[in-house]
Amino acid sequence: MTIRVAIIGFGKIARAEHVPAIAADPDFELVAVVAPNGAQGAGVPVFASLAAMLAAMPDGVDAVSLCTPPRVRRAIAAEAIAAGLAVLLEKPPAATFGELQDLEARARAAGTCLFAAWHSQHAPAVAPAAAALAGETITRLAITWHEDVTRWHPGQDWIWEPEGFGVFDAGINALSIASAILREPLFVTGAAFTIEPGRQAPIAAALTFAGERRTATFDWRATDEEVREIHVATAAGRRIAIRDGGASLSLDGAEQPLGPFAEYPALYRHFARLVAERSVAVDAAPLRIIADAALIARRLSTASRA
Ligand code: NAP
Repeated sequence: MTIRVAIIGFGKIARAEHVPAIAADPDFELVAVVAPNGAQGAGVPVFASLAAMLAAMPDGVDAVSLCTPPRVRRAIAAEAIAAGLAVLLEKPPAATFGELQDLEARARAAGTCLFAAWHSQHAPAVAPAAAALAGETITRLAITWHEDVTRWHPGQDWIWEPEGFGVFDAGINALSIASAILREPLFVTGAAFTIEPGRQAPIAAALTFAGERRTATFDWRATDEEVREIHVATAAGRRIAIRDGGASLSLDGAEQPLGPFAEYPALYRHFARLVAERSVAVDAAPLRIIADAALIARRLSTASRA
């Protein structure tokens, strides 16, 4: 049975990734878009709200993909779950940890499918890295996730608002990979957030985790060269390096042959299975780590350093 899906929030990621992934997947058909300010070129009916879509197509939608900024997700997702729809949440799955727990409880109570999607977990390096680390004791973890914010979020003001996540909008992708490849949970022991004048959310952050030599640095000022790498060493002497955001993998210094970088097609394949099973798939660890960091972080202003 084809899964009739509507996209809610028709911005950069919806257009660049969700539309083509849905179009290429025989299990899905895009039937509507919800966009309060319109969605030029959507090619399907466009509604101002989820309620308006449900009123116009009461039996015409099976699933929704929520591609809004995180601050409005919980209310829309709760409405969709109450309507019996399967729900895919773009990352970050909610604005707060408590909101995500609430959505998970609602989906379980309603018996509907909820997928807190982490696109980076579907990068080709992730599954083989997880397999290589199975049964290993970690002795070092170094996450370096440095991007150019102007490339990925041109003109998006919401990312600097209190619920916008700032640099963690990107850094949470690294944490989602860490969650997928490490057996042990990461506990934040130290955090420093660098915040620009007039902004609420950090442009850079540095974290340390419990255990020795476990660090992460996130920076959105990498205008010259972007770096998205995770290095892991183990007690048995294994060295694992994930590079290019999960597009390449080196095991003990040897580059591994990997499939194509096709995160969103893989993500929709997974969603199709979850919809069929009416499953709830929520990996809350990446959001929990950021929430923990926000509780104990030192805040540094770029203005005071100048
Ligand atoms: P974006 O370009 O700002 O798009 C967000 C869209 O949501 C806008 O079109 C906005 O419409 C719409 N929207 C806001 N409130 C809404 C509501 N109540 N109902 C329906 N639509 C609403 O942002 P984006 O880059 O696509 O990011 C969206 C999410 O995808 C974020 O969580 C982000 O982390 C994630 N993501 C982004 C990227 C990336 O490369 N940009 C990559 C992977 C994941 P208006 O503009 O009309 O308000």
